[in-house]
Amino acid sequence: MECIFCKIAKGESKSNLVYQDETAVAFPDINPKAPVHLLIIPRKHIESVADLAEDEEKLMGHLVSIANKLAQEQGISETGYRLVINCGPHGGQIVAHLHIHLLGGRQMGKLG
Ligand code: 5GP
Ligand code: ZN
Repeated sequence: MECIFCKIAKGESKSNLVYQDETAVAFPDINPKAPVHLLIIPRKHIESVADLAEDEEKLMGHLVSIANKLAQEQGISETGYRLVINCGPHGGQIVAHLHIHLLGGRQMGKLG
C-alpha cells in the first residue's frame, strides 16, 4: 500500500523532512493551521491509530517523543502545544496513514 505519506517518508515527494530516523519521519503540514504545524508519521504504512498492533505500542511512544523534541526545537515547549491524532471519518482523518499533528505558536481553542 503506497500513499502520499509513504512517498514523503521515502523522499519521493518534495516535502522537506524536519526529522528522520529508521522508523519515523516528520515534515511540515502543507496547509498549516498554526504558526508551527508539523506531522510526525511512522515509515510503516499503518492506516490509523485504530490499526496499531499491540507490539506497536513502542512505536507510538517513539512518535510522541519525536513530537516533544520537535516542540523544543521549534521553541514552543514553554508556551505549550497540542498533539492531535484524527481517526476515521468522524475523527476527521483525511490521509489514511497514521500521523500525529504537532500544533503550536498560538493559543488553541477548547475542544468540541
Ligand atoms: P488528517 O485530517 O488526516 O488528520 O490530516 C491530514 C493532514 O495532512 C492535513 O492537515 C493536510 O493539510 C496534510 N496533507 C495532506 N496532503 C499533504 C501533502 O501532500 N503534504 C503535506 N506536507 N501535508 C499534507
Ligand atoms: Zn502510507
